[in-house]
Amino acid sequence: MNNIKEIVENQRTFFIRGNTIDYEYRRENLKKLKAMLKENESEIYFALKQDLNKSKHEAFLTELGFLYSEIDFTLKNLKEWMAPVKMPSPLSHKGSKSYIVKEPYGVVLVISPWNYPLQLALAPAISALAAGNCVIIKPSEHAKHTSQLLSSLIQSTFDRSLFSVMEGDIETTQNLLKERFDYIFFTGSTNVGKEIMKAASEHLTPVTLELGGKSPAIIDADANINLAAKRIAWAKFTNAGQTCVAPDYIYLHEDVKFKFTKALVKHIKALYGKHPLYNEEYTKIINNKHFERLVQLLDQGSIIHGGNYNSETRLIEPTLIEKVTWDDPIMQEEIFGPLLPILTFKNIEDALYVIKRQEKPLALYYFGENEKIQQQVIEFISFGGGAINDALFHLANPHLPFGGVGNSGMGAYHGQYGFDTFTHKKGILKQTTKFDMPFRYPGSKFNTSVV
Ligand code: NAD
Repeated sequence: MNNIKEIVENQRTFFIRGNTIDYEYRRENLKKLKAMLKENESEIYFALKQDLNKSKHEAFLTELGFLYSEIDFTLKNLKEWMAPVKMPSPLSHKGSKSYIVKEPYGVVLVISPWNYPLQLALAPAISALAAGNCVIIKPSEHAKHTSQLLSSLIQSTFDRSLFSVMEGDIETTQNLLKERFDYIFFTGSTNVGKEIMKAASEHLTPVTLELGGKSPAIIDADANINLAAKRIAWAKFTNAGQTCVAPDYIYLHEDVKFKFTKALVKHIKALYGKHPLYNEEYTKIINNKHFERLVQLLDQGSIIHGGNYNSETRLIEPTLIEKVTWDDPIMQEEIFGPLLPILTFKNIEDALYVIKRQEKPLALYYFGENEKIQQQVIEFISFGGGAINDALFHLANPHLPFGGVGNSGMGAYHGQYGFDTFTHKKGILKQTTKFDMPFRYPGSKFNTSVV
């Protein structure tokens, strides 16, 4: 506890002294972070393998590679993002100049989950450091090999007064939340998100909440079925479905049910083999609690593919389930694992109404060729972000904001949206002293004429 107080206090002093303001200093730190990751790639792969059995390919694509791109993109654009922005002034403000100054908040707390334990801890930190803040990361206790490695790497690379990692369980987070931060960035479940927001309100600390939900993948009758199945097989079963924006369920036009499920099974086999439980590259479930939760969900509906599991290795086959209803537990909670329920619809408009009645999802994917309907889906349903004829890939575009809406979160990051999240925008009016417009003062002609 005292340690927490001391670190926050040291960071606050460091920040108040103006150490983080300089553009070159921020650049140096981002470069240092990239070099730290590059020099320790093999240890990072090993930690991710131990925590989640992540393959090197997946670990690069979704963790390290993503972070390298985010750092490079930030380095390339930082000067422009930091620059004051000239704004127009109305005629009533004649003689003055208006502009926006970008100011860091101060000391930032980043709380991250276990599913992409490196990426989701460091991506917000990159934005926060770029914006000139000091950062404390609280990584997830459930991905302990990655958390420990992250902690020791950050500790040996950075001044703790700028950037530090605080490992621990829920109690550690709760103790951290008693301190006053200038910004809190939380990634995790919706229920914990509510606790974070409550705690933040005590100090009026602004928050970004990157939460979860049930993200639908809609497959319409005119979709390119083979490609849709291939992209969904990858998007759903990457990281064994433990992805916040993984398609949570398939909403499928009845006319293409047979064709689509057949293609999906084909692509699952192509990606993970005929026996995924023996595939050394297939991600495992993070812990026994989540494993047992998922195994219980297998009792619902009828399994049309997969369904086998191994409790020793905590692997569950990519599993397709049909004959589930909206009232079944599998359709009531975020699945966050390799189980994919398939529901069908006859009419796209009815399907959209059904989705709109659910909580606003973090992502939505529509597969279909008709541009009018694509547009209708985008406009009619509220969701964090998503893709047409693809899934998951939108989050790797640094030009797009990434975040939820409603129960799936608030605020966004990635690229400039991340920089902006950790930046207070200060509006400044610089007035002339060469003359003084009279109309604002009582008794001025303007005033009299108004009266
Ligand atoms: P979680 O909410 O259980 O935990 C997240 C973090 O909060 C961890 O560091 C944990 O130690 C801490 N925490 C847990 N309970 C707490 C409490 N009562 N008080 C204070 N801190 C607490 O989430 P998780 O299981 O690690 O991750 C899975 C969830 O995260 C899923 O819902 C998923 O959709 C969501 N998620 C969202 C995104 C996104 O970008 N929107 C990304 C990944 C995961």
